[in-house]
Amino acid sequence: MANKLIYFFGKSKTDGGGDMKALLGGKGANLAQMTKIGLPVPSGFTITTEVCVSYYKNGRKAPADLAADMEKAVKWLEKEAGKKFGDVKNPLLVSVRSGARDSMPGMMDTILNLGLNDATCEGLAAATGNPRFAWDSYRRFLQMYGDVVMGVQKKNENDHEPFEEVMDALKKEVKVKDDTDFTAAHLQELVKRFKKLIKDWSGKAFPTDPVKQLEGAVFAVFSSWMNERAILYRQKYRIPDEWGTAVNVQAMVFGNMGDDCATGVAFTRDPANGDNVFYGEYLVNAQGEDVVAGVRTPLTISEMAKDKTIGAAHKELNDVRKILEKNFGDVQDFEFTIEKKKLYMLQTRNGKRTALAYVKIAHDMVKEKLMTPEHAIKSGDPEALNQLLQPIFDTTAYAAATKEGRLMAVGLPAGPGAASGSVVFTAGKAEELAAKGLSVVLARIETSPEDLRGMIASDGILTARGGVSSHAALVARQMGKVCVAGAGDIEIDYHKGTLKCKGVTLKEGDHISINGTTGEVFHGKIATADSELKQVLVNRTMKPKDSKVFQYYDFLMKLADKYRTLGMRTNADQPDQVVNAIAFGAEGIGLCRTEHMFFEGDRIIAVRQMILAKAEDDRKKALATLLPYQQKDFEGIFRALNGLPGCIRLLDPPLHEFLPQHDNKKGQEEVAKQLKTTVAEVARLVSELHEFNPMLGFRGCRLGILRPEITEMQARAIFQAAAVVLKEGIKVKPEVMVPLVGFKKELDLQMEIVHRVAAEVMKATGKKFAYTVGTMIEVPRGALTADEIAESAEFFSFGTNDLTQTCLGMSRDDSGSFLPAYQGLEIIKANPFASIDRTGVGQLMKIGVDKGRATKPDLKIGICGEHGGDPSSVEFCHIIGLDYVSCSPFRVPIARLAAAQAALRHPAKSVAPKVIKDAKAKSGATKSKTSSK
Ligand code: ADP
Ligand code: MG
Ligand code: MG
Repeated sequence: MANKLIYFFGKSKTDGGGDMKALLGGKGANLAQMTKIGLPVPSGFTITTEVCVSYYKNGRKAPADLAADMEKAVKWLEKEAGKKFGDVKNPLLVSVRSGARDSMPGMMDTILNLGLNDATCEGLAAATGNPRFAWDSYRRFLQMYGDVVMGVQKKNENDHEPFEEVMDALKKEVKVKDDTDFTAAHLQELVKRFKKLIKDWSGKAFPTDPVKQLEGAVFAVFSSWMNERAILYRQKYRIPDEWGTAVNVQAMVFGNMGDDCATGVAFTRDPANGDNVFYGEYLVNAQGEDVVAGVRTPLTISEMAKDKTIGAAHKELNDVRKILEKNFGDVQDFEFTIEKKKLYMLQTRNGKRTALAYVKIAHDMVKEKLMTPEHAIKSGDPEALNQLLQPIFDTTAYAAATKEGRLMAVGLPAGPGAASGSVVFTAGKAEELAAKGLSVVLARIETSPEDLRGMIASDGILTARGGVSSHAALVARQMGKVCVAGAGDIEIDYHKGTLKCKGVTLKEGDHISINGTTGEVFHGKIATADSELKQVLVNRTMKPKDSKVFQYYDFLMKLADKYRTLGMRTNADQPDQVVNAIAFGAEGIGLCRTEHMFFEGDRIIAVRQMILAKAEDDRKKALATLLPYQQKDFEGIFRALNGLPGCIRLLDPPLHEFLPQHDNKKGQEEVAKQLKTTVAEVARLVSELHEFNPMLGFRGCRLGILRPEITEMQARAIFQAAAVVLKEGIKVKPEVMVPLVGFKKELDLQMEIVHRVAAEVMKATGKKFAYTVGTMIEVPRGALTADEIAESAEFFSFGTNDLTQTCLGMSRDDSGSFLPAYQGLEIIKANPFASIDRTGVGQLMKIGVDKGRATKPDLKIGICGEHGGDPSSVEFCHIIGLDYVSCSPFRVPIARLAAAQAALRHPAKSVAPKVIKDAKAKSGATKSKTSSK
């Protein structure tokens, strides 16, 4: 490896900076950045992520130069700190900390106080005049090193931590309650027992040479990149294995030297609801993970101001809070230690937050000019916006529960929303019940990374211990789970499988309800209701001015609209869906499936008559019955669109879908009666229409070509509806879409009919209207011959569901038997039916775009497959220069934010200028031609 392996941060020099997260990891880059802007950071160095990558590439072997470079780095750090590694008089102690590019909280392991052994511990005791502190540091070091490097870990979920067990035993023996009550002598005894535990458990003695210790710790951090928890976390958040982690080695500062010392974590604003309040907690005389692990109950930051000894640090922290937000341009989640009243900064990163906090913070900080609008857009997770639609408690049911006295406890509101379901006490049970489709609330004394699977499966999380920075609160923020943390009145007994509080005992499976917005815990069920956003936008039972949530959301969406160049459409078949989608920001319909209308009411009888008709006359009669129904439906849709474009697809599914199949004799009898024919005749027709592979069968434009009168009826319904609505003074922009085209001639034959009918309707009604005719590109041949098809087509829309099926040769409906295994083996990284397979299907799309626009440079192209609402697919559509995406109404906000992010990540130069201009013409308008052919 030719590159620099190690970067320094300290008083004499700082090599890295905040923009080097890929190389130095998030923690290392920001430690360097904080050092640069003059915040008090203990000196240290960062071993780059490249070293970790190379370690795995070479079969878990470090680059040749690493040992020598580390030796040099330690020498440098000794000079910075004025202490020596392994020195018995004034020993340098360090922390060894992992740090991936994106923070992976709780996933990787940290070792503190490295450099201690019996001799240096005595030295530290003498140098500080504080033997209690020295032995406390030593026992902590043994504990962490034993766990992380030497594998002294509990074997089962509900076992106690081996070190905790030894410590608890000693507490009982010497009759102390908290770890702070131990005397130096107690701690010395604890050290002895810990060493024995390590020896007994691992068969190896713990290494006394600090250089060996450091080596072991660095490699343990590399190894932790591939531990099960880290892998699971990366899968969930789609972090590539190839990134690797950096390792930070940093001079120790001590929060455990006495009552003028402390350690803590804080957020510059509330990460659960976004309020602009200083939010954090600390513990006096403690170290590192104590706060997070919930060893003792921490105090809130505001209480620090009242502390006589360390009160001054509170003011300093308040200043830091402002400096951080100003310099990092976002809410910071930071870690600090106070050593003998002096504040040290140990970490900062952009705070993970709930969707509610995301929109509120974006709104506030952009207005306060602390955050750039670009960052506000870029830093959100589009998918998380779903949280804003998450249910809350139904007001009446909630009031009733309160009145009935079902409130059991109040904890910290750590994840907004409401969850009501069966209470479970283990991750395994949570998964088991969730798999059966039950709502579950996982209740734990406190959660740890082992519970992650269960937390994912649960609707809500409840813990009895732990504060705002506890694991449960952290995960809830990140996953958008409803969560109440640290409900201290609750007693959970894992062995008995009970939860007790105020005289109420719940057993596993009993109902419990938690309110993550207020922290309340109720026993029994409470009905849930729609979120504020839904009440404003969908039900319209709440006014925008009465909902703060709506206002923050709306601010963010409008900001997103400023940046995105992709148009937004929706897949909707009914007027009410169209209205909802427009409320969510849709600028038109990208796909209106006419077949859904065929099933409504008794229309299906006419549809069946049409299918079963032997003579053309009979078929026409049936179609004539259908025409007014279809026309009424389209009128409704045009009215709902109110001038926005509506892309309507001609009949697509194979006809057998409209008939009762052979396993439904009763249905066939009914049809026979309705259509005044025999059951045998119906059965015969069903057999005739039966297809071995319906996906590739008699469907799409093939129907309209062999039965042109269907296309004719549909076109007539569309255009007559257009004329009617136009007469009412409402603008219409119909786009007629021919499905499943693979040959230009297919499209031509259908277009001929559509144009003829349009001319007839215009003549008969005396109304002129603009319309276009285009095609779906959803079979590979359509994409490959897009240049020919574009000679006729006035627009394209990628039907990526079918295009994925036909490109991959996989049917979506029965790929379930092997797709999960394929994902496990990483043959495919993501489900191709959820996220566009960019290299395969994407290539067909790219060919379709390029060839189509080679013929017609301003050809309008969109996407109407399910993928249109998937953030990664939206990004891809932006990259290849589509004009719009279309997705289901409730995913429109997600697509809007994703499109804005894509525009910021891939600025316009890669897109043909013409395309951008078109897409920018808001209201999703297209230049359609008035057909007077
Ligand atoms: P994580 O990534 O899990 O947050 P960290 O590497 O941040 O782990 O370490 C956890 C805690 O250990 C920190 O919050 C801090 O309190 C403590 N710590 C780490 N390095 C030092 C140090 N050099 N001096 C004092 N405390 C430290
Ligand atoms: Mg940390
Ligand atoms: Mg299709």
